[in-house]
Amino acid sequence: MRRGRRSGCFTIVAVHSTARGPALGGCRLWHYADSRAAVRDALRLSQAMTFKSAVAGLPLGGGKGVIMAPDPTVAGERDWRTDALRDFGDTVELLGGSYVTAEDVGTSSRDMETISLSTPHVTGLSRRLGGSGDPSPWTALGVQTGIEVCCERVFGTPSLAGRTIAISGLGNVGGRVASACAEAGATLLVSDIDARKRALAESLNARWVEPHEALSAPVDVFAPCALGGLLDHESVLRLAAPIVAGAANNQLAGDEIASLLVQRGILWAPDFVVNAGGIINISVELEEGGYDPRRAGELVRGIGVTLQRIFDDAQARAVSPLDAAMLLARARLAEADSGDEEWI
Ligand code: NAD
Repeated sequence: MRRGRRSGCFTIVAVHSTARGPALGGCRLWHYADSRAAVRDALRLSQAMTFKSAVAGLPLGGGKGVIMAPDPTVAGERDWRTDALRDFGDTVELLGGSYVTAEDVGTSSRDMETISLSTPHVTGLSRRLGGSGDPSPWTALGVQTGIEVCCERVFGTPSLAGRTIAISGLGNVGGRVASACAEAGATLLVSDIDARKRALAESLNARWVEPHEALSAPVDVFAPCALGGLLDHESVLRLAAPIVAGAANNQLAGDEIASLLVQRGILWAPDFVVNAGGIINISVELEEGGYDPRRAGELVRGIGVTLQRIFDDAQARAVSPLDAAMLLARARLAEADSGDEEWI
């Protein structure tokens, strides 16, 4: 944690694990009530990145960066933003490659270019600069693959033709998931708190509903693609879909909700398994030979195989998909720990 010499704001990097490789995780530019809240966020998110990359089988550890904006409006001021991003780059550089940054909430691939003026340990640069570009289409592809795997388990076929799917949040990922599902022949119910997203709904022939209606709609699949914490003791009782699979991070208000979903007979695809498409795409950027979108596509589709393995394991051990996913992540971390090579 350092105070930037240009911007005066705190820049924070949390490195949770380098057992499988450099700790990769996005840089969040956000306003926090105090620096302790910012540090807590960085620590919590860095741990989640360790498990996400491990379960995806990537040669990466888990980390997270935070730039603490002094107030909510300053992030839009160009000079301050450039200074803060350069300061963050200095902090990343000091870690000598044990942390590699990427875009996250509040930052863009253009911001990664600014950070790259201070350090080479940056991913998610634009395709023009040889980077892997926008991660959202890849995250959406992974989510779609996850939905298909769930449908195969519950309905006996991965085909989305004729399925009814409720999608909450039509943003960068949810919008693309909606388009792909519509193209595959699904009937959609969609919701967003931003009324401007109605245009996309109309173009897809989707029924527009309020967010609370999407959650309890009697559909085949509920796909949460907005914010986290949506599934709690109360909302899980209102779910009517036999499948929940979506992009939103941290969907469960607490780990115990995973067992509640099992008790209700609802198949939940662990969020950090199905929304790993973006980081899988970024990992290709770090491979020898550089970024190749075809390889990224193959690896992202591999989320389907991982998810099937997790569901099989959950069934065999009579545990929740969350427990099975964590067991897989821990096994992969232990494998790396017992290897001869420590990354740093
Ligand atoms: P986004 O900001 O582009 O889209 C989120 C959308 O959700 C917005 O349209 C917003 O208006 C809407 N929304 C917010 N609150 C809502 C509510 N209560 N009900 C309905 N809609 C609501 O974000 P995104 O990049 O599409 O990411 C969506 C989710 O997926 C986030 O949880 C994100 O952390 C996660 N995720 C994204 C990526 C990625 O590659 N972008 C990767 C992994 C995980």
